[in-house]
Amino acid sequence: VRTKDSFYEVHLGEKILREFCERNVMSFQKADQIIVITDENVWNIHKEYFNKNFSLPYKIHLVPNGESCKTFESYFDVQTFLLQENCSRNSILLAFGGGAIGDLTGFVAATFMRGISFYQIPTTILAHDSAVGGKTAINHPNGKNMIGAFYQPSEVLYDFHFLQTLPKNEVRSGLAEVIKHALISNEAWVHDFFLLPSIDAIQKDELLVWLEKGIRVKAHIVELDEKEQSFRKFLNFGHTYGHAIEASIGYGKITHGEAVMIGMIPALMLSEIRGKLEKGYARKVFNLAIKLDYNFHHVLNCSFEQLASFMLKDKKTTNGELHFALLEKIGEPFVKIISMEDVKKCDELLRDWIM
Ligand code: NAD
Ligand code: ZN
Repeated sequence: VRTKDSFYEVHLGEKILREFCERNVMSFQKADQIIVITDENVWNIHKEYFNKNFSLPYKIHLVPNGESCKTFESYFDVQTFLLQENCSRNSILLAFGGGAIGDLTGFVAATFMRGISFYQIPTTILAHDSAVGGKTAINHPNGKNMIGAFYQPSEVLYDFHFLQTLPKNEVRSGLAEVIKHALISNEAWVHDFFLLPSIDAIQKDELLVWLEKGIRVKAHIVELDEKEQSFRKFLNFGHTYGHAIEASIGYGKITHGEAVMIGMIPALMLSEIRGKLEKGYARKVFNLAIKLDYNFHHVLNCSFEQLASFMLKDKKTTNGELHFALLEKIGEPFVKIISMEDVKKCDELLRDWIM
């Protein structure tokens, strides 16, 4: 991934943690400290494998599982730990976990002593998206990801070994972002998903190919527009309505990707009206999502007024105008200003489909 000020590699494969350690041994030995930031879940399940393959001395700092680590308190705790351990500009952080760990660790790395190196070691399917691109953040009680920085990692090491232990809802969460990458980039690839009889039918090799493709889509867009001035907005496909669902239901009560899957349906409906997307495509993807066991009943637990108020607070909304990433057709995203009335019509149609 090449951005204006940085260049880094993304390595993918099965059982590649040891190679990662060997490849970076010079940089790691030069560092005065290596600090691994992870959560209890990931650490309990994978510490043995980690220790077997990561042979350099390191210290570990555990934070709360999942989204609950993206708070000011955890951020402050990590900074305190780094200071107590006498870390310096010359120390290195390893973000070992899902997207939440990556976002927190990246933001700590961006701000500790005005910036130190960090490496992403993602352990979820969703993190094929979040570990690449350099968006780092923590949450504020008034809004998710409201405090953060663009800060690129030194390398991304995606060892598929970790994915085997993911619970089903996390597989579904990650798969939604994979499907998003397919919808915004390549019609033939979307076809692969239509052929799936169920989420359990996904073959490991097939998933690995999709993850590589997803990373390429993400990396390409980030290279064109690191700071989200233009093309990077396409990656928000499904996220305007999706974030509103996530916020209304409550973070942690629905996974990010499951909310995005829901959010992609109104975005596809709008693409049929405002873009040239083939009529009936939104319904086709809705049927696919039902087949893959995405739970749309969450929508019925939120009023449209509630969703609308969250959409108006979204970072993508300016002067009350909703900026929606839509599809001209599959593989051709664009951004369009959409009225709340139009979103309401799609919301009503979606509720009809669910009931
Ligand atoms: P997560 O990091 O919240 O992890 C979900 C749960 O899975 C946690 O309980 C974790 O302990 C557990 N887990 C992680 N790896 C596991 C494994 N291998 N086996 C078993 N359990 C495991 O979830 P996520 O979906 O990876 O990330 C979501 C976060 O990513 C959100 O905070 C979202 O805002 C962020 N995100 C960031 C970007 C970005 O560009 N920076 C993009 C998308 C999402
Ligand atoms: Zn997302």
